[in-house]
Amino acid sequence: MKLQGLVFDWAGTLADHGSRAPVATLEAIFAAARVPVTVAEARLAMGIAKKEHIRSILALPRVRGEWAQVYGTEPGEPELEALYAAFIPKQLDCLVQHSDVIAGVPEAFERFRGRGLQLGSSTGYTRPMLDCLLQLAARQNLKPDAAFCPDEVPFGRPAPWMCFRNAMQLGIYPMWTMVKIGDTPSDIAEGLNAGMWTIGVTRTGNETGLTAAEWNATLPAAQQALEGAAGQRLLAAGAHYLAPSVAECDPFLDAIEDRLRAGHRP
Ligand SMILES: [Mg+2]
Repeated sequence: MKLQGLVFDWAGTLADHGSRAPVATLEAIFAAARVPVTVAEARLAMGIAKKEHIRSILALPRVRGEWAQVYGTEPGEPELEALYAAFIPKQLDCLVQHSDVIAGVPEAFERFRGRGLQLGSSTGYTRPMLDCLLQLAARQNLKPDAAFCPDEVPFGRPAPWMCFRNAMQLGIYPMWTMVKIGDTPSDIAEGLNAGMWTIGVTRTGNETGLTAAEWNATLPAAQQALEGAAGQRLLAAGAHYLAPSVAECDPFLDAIEDRLRAGHRP
């Protein structure tokens, strides 16, 4: 039995090395609301639908406490709505500055297609944000065969629905002939919940959090520590394999096909 398809995450996996666009936007809207959040707080729930992501930050005890100090009351649904309304235009602006396709990804797409795979994608972005990113990526020679966002399903990650939409559009089943590839624990949860194999991306993603330039300026020992910690978080989420980037997934696809032939399932 051969693999038939892959479903990729966007930020930190296909484009935006370090998944910087969502972090920059979240930091900006919370700072504007006079309750600044740390990069670590902004990254904690990365990958889930953006409104749910803001809700999860508002639920952090430190953030609730500081919000109550500033406003005299804990944040509720109206505050969430106001933050999300501020998030949307800022994220669209920010996407344009953080839309560089990650090195080696277009070439990897050619190799994956060469081995007969169809290439889908999913995200925590909304449809307008995803459309913006798709357009910017296409100009850099990156065109997946399918792309779904949380707006088009009952719930985003960790629910499997976006993976199922990809499978339906690509005409692929069973789900264990597909691999989810992403940079956050929520990506891994999405793939596992869909009954797919999973590969966690360490070097280029949210769990390492550095741009390509920052990564290249990091000393090897520190690179190793960062990548190791990223890998631990993705393995703890249940990732079957870890790869530094999408461009380095090929050996793991071979390994998964070997396991399929041996009768293994995810
Ligand atoms: Mg991501």
